[in-house]
Amino acid sequence: MSDEVDVAQDVVELTNTVAVLAIRHQLQAAGREYCQSCGEAIPVARRLAAPWADTCTPCQSVLEHRNKVGY
Ligand SMILES: [Zn+2]
Repeated sequence: MSDEVDVAQDVVELTNTVAVLAIRHQLQAAGREYCQSCGEAIPVARRLAAPWADTCTPCQSVLEHRNKVGY
């Protein structure tokens, strides 16, 4: 019985380790950490949702507005 518990604990620990490594890998692949425009940190949720983004959401909104209206 204790062997089964040990194996189960090992599986849980391994699963947790894999999950942590997967998240770290995802974050490393998830684009810029700081906004190109204002230098503020880009939120993790945005980095994961838009890994190509090099600006934070407020700066991106300003850029899009400028592109739309021309100034
Ligand atoms: Zn910004």
